[in-house]
Amino acid sequence: MQRRRLVLEGIVQGVGFRPFVHGLAREMGVSGFVKNGARGLLVEVQGASVAVDDFVARLRLERPPLARVESIVVSDAPADSEDRSFRIAASEDGGDRGVSIAPDAATCDACLRELEDPEDRRHGYAFISCAGCGPRFTIARGAPFDRARTTMAPFEMCGACRDEYEDPRDRRFHAQTIACGACGPTLFAADAAGRRIGGDPIAAAVSMLREGAVVAVKGLGGFHLACDASSESALKALRLGKARAAKPFAVMVRDMSEAEGLCALSADERDLLSSPARPIVLLDPRPGAPVACGVANGAPSLGVMLPYTPVHHLLLARAARPLVMTSGNRSDEPIACDDLDALDRLGRIAGLFLLHDRAIAARCDDSVARVAMGPTLLRRSRGSCPAGLPLPVVCAEPVLAAGGALRSAFALGEGRRALPGPHVGTIDGPLALAAFGDAVAAHERLSGLHPRVLAHDLHPDDPCAAWARSRAELEGGRAIAVQHHHAHVASCMAENGLDEPCIGVAFDGTGYGPDGTVWGGEFLVGGLASVRRAAHLGTVAMPGGDAAVREPWRMALSHLVAAGLPDAPIPCVDPDARRIVARMIERRVNAPGTSSAGRLFDAVAALAGVRARVAYEAQAAIELEGLGASVTDDAVYDFELAAGDPIVADVGPLVRSLVADLPRAGAARAARRFHNTIAAIVGAVCARLRETTGIDAVALSGGVFGNRLLLEGASATLSLGGFRVFRHRLVPPGDGGLALGQLAVAAAGGAR
Ligand code: ZN
Ligand code: ZN
Ligand code: FE
Repeated sequence: MQRRRLVLEGIVQGVGFRPFVHGLAREMGVSGFVKNGARGLLVEVQGASVAVDDFVARLRLERPPLARVESIVVSDAPADSEDRSFRIAASEDGGDRGVSIAPDAATCDACLRELEDPEDRRHGYAFISCAGCGPRFTIARGAPFDRARTTMAPFEMCGACRDEYEDPRDRRFHAQTIACGACGPTLFAADAAGRRIGGDPIAAAVSMLREGAVVAVKGLGGFHLACDASSESALKALRLGKARAAKPFAVMVRDMSEAEGLCALSADERDLLSSPARPIVLLDPRPGAPVACGVANGAPSLGVMLPYTPVHHLLLARAARPLVMTSGNRSDEPIACDDLDALDRLGRIAGLFLLHDRAIAARCDDSVARVAMGPTLLRRSRGSCPAGLPLPVVCAEPVLAAGGALRSAFALGEGRRALPGPHVGTIDGPLALAAFGDAVAAHERLSGLHPRVLAHDLHPDDPCAAWARSRAELEGGRAIAVQHHHAHVASCMAENGLDEPCIGVAFDGTGYGPDGTVWGGEFLVGGLASVRRAAHLGTVAMPGGDAAVREPWRMALSHLVAAGLPDAPIPCVDPDARRIVARMIERRVNAPGTSSAGRLFDAVAALAGVRARVAYEAQAAIELEGLGASVTDDAVYDFELAAGDPIVADVGPLVRSLVADLPRAGAARAARRFHNTIAAIVGAVCARLRETTGIDAVALSGGVFGNRLLLEGASATLSLGGFRVFRHRLVPPGDGGLALGQLAVAAAGGAR
């Protein structure tokens, strides 16, 4: 007779692990118990030593589909001769530390079959779920994950659900979200004033959608605004209401075959689309795809997702057409997640509200992913949050990293684990800052952490940095400022488990440089704790500061002036405006210096006639990438590496050859050659840095590496040159990934 104690950490709660262990124990004929503990899952198992060993061995290999085990610690325990059966014991409260709550998971196939089966007692029930699927993070008010600590608490199980919950052979055995039409949440339709509308809510929503109206749909982590994706007039109303003039919308399609109809899919793309996390996947649309032009609005890719809740399945099946599903907010405000707030903020946009009576505990936008050398998350949120990531260094004490104010996402760190928070959006006002504070508080509640070490961006005016500094001051904590591009590089290193000297290539739009210029085309050599600026793209004027971000033609002019071609043509620019900006550049009035790669992409987009002005960040660069990807070409323009420390990659020769080549080659070929050249510059600078440092590991980070053409080109060049190349997959290359880097720098004892 032997008794063993096992502690499992990772995503082990709310994923059907207890019933799974229970089933395994009965099969092996061992006694003991399983329960949710403060840090994960606790198991005690007792029996003949062969059976106990087998049980432990199987538990190391087998697990429910949504579970992720990070560690299993096994120890001996005193045998209890009274213990004859195996049971699921009550959860431990244990100070509420439960970092192991699972992300929300899409409706599984078994639940979907019941949803569609007229004979099933949950036929058509909008909140069907089981031990292996359904909401988790977005309904959790605390940890461990038990119904009483979720927004399912007010719904008392009916007898039939209770029977399933208690039956070890049922697939809803101990499923915390178990519900049915008799006892669970109810779906209903309401008008814009919040008055309930009788009848079938799905039918009401579908008839509104078919008429071209906008419908607000309460989802998992917030509201969506939905409309018919083939209706230009519906789209126009949606854009007007949301004050979102140009940014592309994502569409939700009924199933994989409808997705195939819109876009040609690779195996990786199919896997991403159908994964339980169900992100929006950026895909290449087929020509003539049955979606209105106003959806992608000129962007080369189309964001597509599959239904991930029963409500989506019911809605899409009845609507029988792709629907635009965009976050329920105006402009860049935080997504609405409370009924009254939604009615207040979305009441003038939506003609009908599809609501339900289960509260949303955590705001969580959709995640965005793309296949670029494998699946890559561009926005890590619903479906991935709050899953932890391992850190290559240990946080000596808990850390909160505030991230950046654009594409804000924070992260908590404890020990060797990072807990990235959900995407919060742009932090540009009190509403957004309050949402940021709420999200941090919710994450701290779930994890039981309240760090006194606060890592933040070095930028003196960054709202998230200001928030972190003031919290540190108020609570007697310590604030650590981390330079923007150091954080980008550290983020890439952290997610790849690197803690060694690296060449970090950080290409993005804007980041505060300690020398008073705007950085963004940086080669940083060093490790997690510290880096030095070893090389950068040549510095040019950024005439008008932020105006140069909105008007890429200004950057085109700046690069032309720097290249000695002040009079070369830039399409679609008013001559008077051009004269004024030329003077700004010449006199360096309101024209800070920048080495930004993003601004260089903007400049080239303007020169190539892609666009002179943008309506959203990176619009010109995204369209330039699309244009470049439409042709194949290996040619590379000239560039020059100026000796010195730091090395300066002069793009003047590039601009001169591009301007000369444009009339011959055309915009698409020139765009392709420009991408080739940037990849070549990355390769050449890294080779130069390897000569002096001997370092052969390169970490590629920054929003510009969301550009597939550049990522592929730079990776190929570097790999061919014998470098070990590291890139982002689990954490966004852009500012959504900053917090992980800030965390790693703080943990490594850097930037203090
Ligand atoms: Zn299920
Ligand atoms: Zn029920
Ligand atoms: Fe950045």
